[in-house]
Amino acid sequence: MKVSREADVASLLAPPAGSSLWLATAPAGPALPPLAGEVQADTLVIGGGIAGTTTALHLAEAGIDTVLLEAGQVGDGASGQSGGVIAPDFIRHTPETLGRVLGRQAATRLTQMIGGSARDVFGLIERHAIDCDAHQDGFYTPAHSEGLAENQRRYANQWHSRGYDVGFIEAEAARATFGADRYCGALYFGDGGRLNPLAYARGLARAAARQGARLFAGSPVVALTHAAGQWRAQTPGGTVIARRLVLAANGGNAALHPALRRTALPLQVIQFASTPLSPAQRQEIMPMGGAFTDKVPYLFTARLDGSGHLISAFGASFLVRGEKAALREAERRLKQHFAAMPDPRIAYLWPGTAWVNPSLLPEVYELGDDAFAIQACNGRGITVNTAIGIEMAAMLARGDRDALSVPMRAPRPIRFHAAATLVPKMLMSMAYLSN
Ligand SMILES: Cc1cc2nc3c(=O)[nH]c(=O)nc-3n(C[C@H](O)[C@H](O)[C@H](O)COP(=O)(O)OP(=O)(O)OC[C@H]3O[C@@H](n4cnc5c(N)ncnc54)[C@H](O)[C@@H]3O)c2cc1C
Repeated sequence: MKVSREADVASLLAPPAGSSLWLATAPAGPALPPLAGEVQADTLVIGGGIAGTTTALHLAEAGIDTVLLEAGQVGDGASGQSGGVIAPDFIRHTPETLGRVLGRQAATRLTQMIGGSARDVFGLIERHAIDCDAHQDGFYTPAHSEGLAENQRRYANQWHSRGYDVGFIEAEAARATFGADRYCGALYFGDGGRLNPLAYARGLARAAARQGARLFAGSPVVALTHAAGQWRAQTPGGTVIARRLVLAANGGNAALHPALRRTALPLQVIQFASTPLSPAQRQEIMPMGGAFTDKVPYLFTARLDGSGHLISAFGASFLVRGEKAALREAERRLKQHFAAMPDPRIAYLWPGTAWVNPSLLPEVYELGDDAFAIQACNGRGITVNTAIGIEMAAMLARGDRDALSVPMRAPRPIRFHAAATLVPKMLMSMAYLSN
């Protein structure tokens, strides 16, 4: 739904069909039927986001008989709500600090997976000719202080010395790159970029179906049981019986398997897009393309799409309540960052939930009985979940646990989970006050 200042925005934060820029602009996905009757498969994947569709695609390519069940339509979850920034980077760690957490060998594997994840994304797009407004024109994390800039220079060296196209641009170059003058420089990942995430998920689903995976939409799994070496997943219209199971339902994983309850925290985000920038604004704001996400607690992110909409977001807090306040906040943020946008207009505003692990690292859980769960959102899942989907399929196809770069472990519930679910919003409220 397109909005203007005069429009009634009351329904904006309940996601009506057509409310996001991506829903308005993504090419249609494959027509997928709901599950009907009983279906047998070797491997069942639950969830039609980027994790599930990538896994199903690569399983099918490896000749594994695969069924995917999606509750709504492909991309309905975080994948289709997201900002579409391709960021091959950690959130909290660096290649070196990770060694202290995971040990050297595991850290090296995970660093290689994250460092190569953007190439995985753009490689898949090319190989399967996915029409998703993809631009591999760099991802930046700008520094708002000299202290952070100094850290970023060191951090760039850690990646660069490992063979990745990562560097640091100084303040003047950052100003010209972003059209924002509040940064002292920026870390630069040459493999990163931007895309329409809904179009990407739909394209992956189409490719998976072309490779022989059977995908069903409008098919929520309402009961999941294991008996006599088989998983049985029941939907309102039918049942899938499979030897192996991959849970890729993101926030929905918790309801599917008891061991996954209380293992992730919801981070609510308001995503928005401006009306297309004027030619003069396009010369000032991100004229070379790319995407950036800064490091302040109330983080700011920006990128353009192919039609010149500027796409950004802010974390939901207790202090910006209601649709009109959200719209005002979106405008304030654009004005605050871009001198060339003194009077921004918001065309689309939509909510999303990114699920975060307390480790802020991607997690793959082993549930026993040939069942695995991907829980790797953390606000970076477009890129990371693509890499994990590829590796998960390789692990299952070859029977080789070493194919996975994420150290697999049993899930552990978060202590005081009910209270902890409020933490992201509380932190965002404090961050909002300081911005
Ligand atoms: C607002 C927002 C902005 C973001 N921006 C970025 C970004 O710029 N870059 C980035 O890399 N990451 C970003 N992320 C994170 C990224 O979108 C996610 O990490 C990633 O899309 C998760 O993919 P997924 O496949 O694991 O989950 P999802 O996309 O959430 O897919 C899970 C699917 O499972 C389905 N499902 C749930 N329960 C069931 C059930 N019982 N039966 C059947 N199906 C079920 C859901 O309908 C859903 O389609 C953002 C997230 C949000 C919310």
